Amino acid sequence: MVDRIQSIRGMHDILPEAGAAWSWLETTIRRVVEGYGYQQIRLPIVEKTELFARSIGEVTDIVEKEMYTFGDRNGDSLTLRPEGTAGCVRSGIEHGFLHNQMVRLWYTGPMFRHERPQKGRYRQFHQMGAEAFGMEGPDVDAELILMTSRLWRVLGLQGVRLELNSLGSAEARAAYRDELQDFLRSRRDELDEDSRRRLESNPLRVLDSKDPGTREVLREAPQLLEALDDASREHFEGLCELLSSAGIEYVINPRLVRGLDYYSRTVFEWVTDELGAQGTVCAGGRYDALVSQLGGRETPACGFAMGIERLLTLLEAQSLLPTLAGPRVYVLSQGAAARREALHIAEAVREARPELGVQVHCGEGGLKAQMKRADRSGAEVALILGEQEVAEGMVTVRALRGEAQQTMVAQTALLAELLRHCPIDQEGH
Ligand code: ATP
Ligand code: MG
Repeated sequence: MVDRIQSIRGMHDILPEAGAAWSWLETTIRRVVEGYGYQQIRLPIVEKTELFARSIGEVTDIVEKEMYTFGDRNGDSLTLRPEGTAGCVRSGIEHGFLHNQMVRLWYTGPMFRHERPQKGRYRQFHQMGAEAFGMEGPDVDAELILMTSRLWRVLGLQGVRLELNSLGSAEARAAYRDELQDFLRSRRDELDEDSRRRLESNPLRVLDSKDPGTREVLREAPQLLEALDDASREHFEGLCELLSSAGIEYVINPRLVRGLDYYSRTVFEWVTDELGAQGTVCAGGRYDALVSQLGGRETPACGFAMGIERLLTLLEAQSLLPTLAGPRVYVLSQGAAARREALHIAEAVREARPELGVQVHCGEGGLKAQMKRADRSGAEVALILGEQEVAEGMVTVRALRGEAQQTMVAQTALLAELLRHCPIDQEGH
């Protein structure tokens, strides 16, 4: 026996039965973000490793241990993108579309992180993200949050709550970092191992710890929000005000820090309790320093990314996924002449009503066997062409669901008869 090759751990096939839900979600997202004037950008999946090291930060989970990094044939170090922001900024600098402009972008596609696979955490997963460049005020932060909130509403999602925090300016954060480090050092023995390590390399990340003992210590830790510089405080208050006046509920979570180093000021997450430990469906914030950090001219920026798999799992848990949309019409035939005719008729229906979906039975098989296939296809109507139908220019129309009904109509009257069985609503269903 030959060994069968399997997919890579943590990287999943999206099988045909899931395809309808994926396209529906992608289309819904696209409609919502385009309703805010965001333009789609499509970027390479592979970038130079240095791009991620310099943007995400050397001492982050992603860069320390999650990247798929390999040598190109010429010796360059390349990495499968673990997220989309770095690529957007790289592209913006390279093509000069960021400086002195207001740019609103969105993207979607696969991302790669070598994490321990579990529910809601994969090695290849998909994100949809949006980034807004060139706007400094809290109004664009609010816009991005409103956009995600609208998406939840359009999808029908319930129970996703917004958590908000501000990381302040780099200077305020540096001062706070020292203060936090002193505090954590004084309680070192009570911290988990990971946090003890981070305490030296990146103490802010300790705030993000899921360890119960560490979390207990953190209750007494100095708070970042209290260390904010005046301008950041004003920015944050501005955002809170805008959200309140737009009717968006939020919770301020002073421990929210995010796993990437490039954030400043606003950070936010949309969280649900329905997905266990992987409860964040969308996360984002402001990253005013990133463009200059990557060699561009200083440009304020703000964005978010959402996990498509987590969203789909949540939609499924709330029974919000649409059912598979298969063909509504199935065409059967018997005999060589009828088979030719079946192809013509199917094409004519597709031409007139492309939204119906017409599947033609291919291959051999008696009418009885074909009818079984028609039934299993989920179609609502079968069109049957036999010798008699062909000779008389007719077609038999048979309802497959509900009351058994069968009529023979002239081919010229077929479309009207079909629409009687399969009415098309405005959405094309
Ligand atoms: P987490 O704390 O869950 O590891 P993160 O802070 O690493 O998330 P981001 O880099 O902010 O996540 O990515 C944005 C979103 O992408 C997350 O909120 C989540 O919905 C999704 N996501 C991140 N990593 C994965 C993964 N390995 N598998 C599936 N979805 C993911
Ligand atoms: Mg992570």
